[in-house]
Amino acid sequence: MTKHNNMPENPEPFWRELIDLPSFSKLKDSLKVDVGIVGGGITGITTAYLLAKENINVALLDSNVILNGTTGHTTAKVTAQHGLIYDEFISHFGLEKTQLYYQANMDAKKFIKQTIDQYNLKCDYKEENAFLYTNSDDYLLKLEHEQKAYDKVKIPHETKTNIPLDIPIKSALVMPNQGQFHPLKYLKQLVDESVSNGVQFYENTAAIDVEYNKHPTIITRDGYRVTCRYVIEASHYPFYDGQGFYPTRLKPERSYIIGIKTDKSYPGGMYINAESPTRSIRSTPIDDENLWLIAGENHRTGQGKSTIDHYVALQNFAEKQFGVKDFIYRWSAQDLTTLDKLPYIGPVTKGQDSVLVATGYRKWGMTNGTIAAQILADSILEKENPYKNLYTPARFQGDPSVKKFAQFNTNVAKSLIKGKLDDTKENINNLDIDEATITRVNGERTGVYKDKNAELHLVDTTCTHLRCEVAWNSGERTWDCPCHGSRFSYTGEVIEGPAKEPLEKRSLND
Ligand SMILES: Cc1cc2nc3c(=O)[nH]c(=O)nc-3n(C[C@H](O)[C@H](O)[C@H](O)COP(=O)(O)OP(=O)(O)OC[C@H]3O[C@@H](n4cnc5c(N)ncnc54)[C@H](O)[C@@H]3O)c2cc1C
Repeated sequence: MTKHNNMPENPEPFWRELIDLPSFSKLKDSLKVDVGIVGGGITGITTAYLLAKENINVALLDSNVILNGTTGHTTAKVTAQHGLIYDEFISHFGLEKTQLYYQANMDAKKFIKQTIDQYNLKCDYKEENAFLYTNSDDYLLKLEHEQKAYDKVKIPHETKTNIPLDIPIKSALVMPNQGQFHPLKYLKQLVDESVSNGVQFYENTAAIDVEYNKHPTIITRDGYRVTCRYVIEASHYPFYDGQGFYPTRLKPERSYIIGIKTDKSYPGGMYINAESPTRSIRSTPIDDENLWLIAGENHRTGQGKSTIDHYVALQNFAEKQFGVKDFIYRWSAQDLTTLDKLPYIGPVTKGQDSVLVATGYRKWGMTNGTIAAQILADSILEKENPYKNLYTPARFQGDPSVKKFAQFNTNVAKSLIKGKLDDTKENINNLDIDEATITRVNGERTGVYKDKNAELHLVDTTCTHLRCEVAWNSGERTWDCPCHGSRFSYTGEVIEGPAKEPLEKRSLND
């Protein structure tokens, strides 16, 4: 691929380097366990850890390797400061529920810290102040409303017009003593503990369905059956919908992270702006220095400009504000947002209490994923949990949900129609190395990618989930679906659900 201003050639997250994670074999037989967990990110692993401590017999399946989903590609701030949200939550849910949300996230932070202390874990955990800032006149009033919401919810805070980081701001809202860590060093410990307590992990084992007889049974792509008392869908996007209509209730959004060194010393703190485009900043130790992580540039998956441009925008921002000495990492990932911005945690639908789901963390899954694990483990262990009702997927909040539902579906419908009518008539012979196009091949709409060896890879661009048209993601070299966020490699393999089947391969001779 062409190098863009010293940009690292391949997207690789810092967290997965320099860490020795255990690996596990594929599932090669059918199984019976108490709980079958699908997904080895923060949600699935924390749930497995909690259940195994209580002598519950657990199997965890991951379609890839564990900790290579969104959890392996996060920014890993452990905080209850989730952008501009508390004012909005008070108006949608009322003060009591908003206080519960804050409390739930602070409890999750406390659980993470206690677990770190319990195992004397070296996972670069550090308490930092969290700054929500704006440099836009238009956002000053919004930040003021958020500050008033902090007052109502009784969130300790300060307002500032100067912050330690040398960037222009007009105002900032500070939530003191929040946290940050190396998420995979932390979760590796939970995996090791879970293995010691008998959890069976299986990698490269995709779950494709749930079948109900007396007990729910997970069906894997290879045709094996995992029969359990409970199924936990910790697969980020629920792999089994159970007629809960999740595709209409979840919005996938990508964002980008760069890891750089600068000549400046990092002043401490975790930062995020209120306006668009998002700029989220923290640091993490690397070789006795600081790696500055700069994240942002959110957009709906499969929509918007060439994805490599988002990395360039972050690089330009870093260059202008701090000066880039070394551009070491770049990676991107997506997270899901629910209709009312509160995660869905609980039974997949009202009638299916033995299939539990946890999703929709809106890029705040370190705390929300930990809360999810506690809620789900407690409901299996038949323990009370103060946050269970708040997060239940069965809730219905008329006002914001209905409006967004309409907007969302209009957007999805456009992707279906636009995709079907477009015909770029791009000539394959004109493709550069590491470039892709969508064109007609033998009358069929086809995605064509030319790799570094000039080999062409042709796929049908119709997403195998609900038949929207995928778009090329140049930054990651993937085909991404704008409707529900499924992603496919350039050879068509599923990288990320909800799609379960690969894109159909095409050839010039079809
Ligand atoms: C750029 C970015 C920055 C972020 N920064 C922060 C932050 O600073 N703080 C914060 O709190 N949150 C942050 N988040 C959000 C947080 O990272 C996520 O919400 C969280 O990691 C989601 O965890 P998970 O366990 O639900 O999903 P994942 O980590 O994605 O795990 C799901 C697993 O399920 C597996 N899987 C999927 N389908 C199947 C199937 N059919 N069968 C078997 N396995 C399957 C996948 O392979 C994957 O391993 C950020 C998100 C993004 C995108």
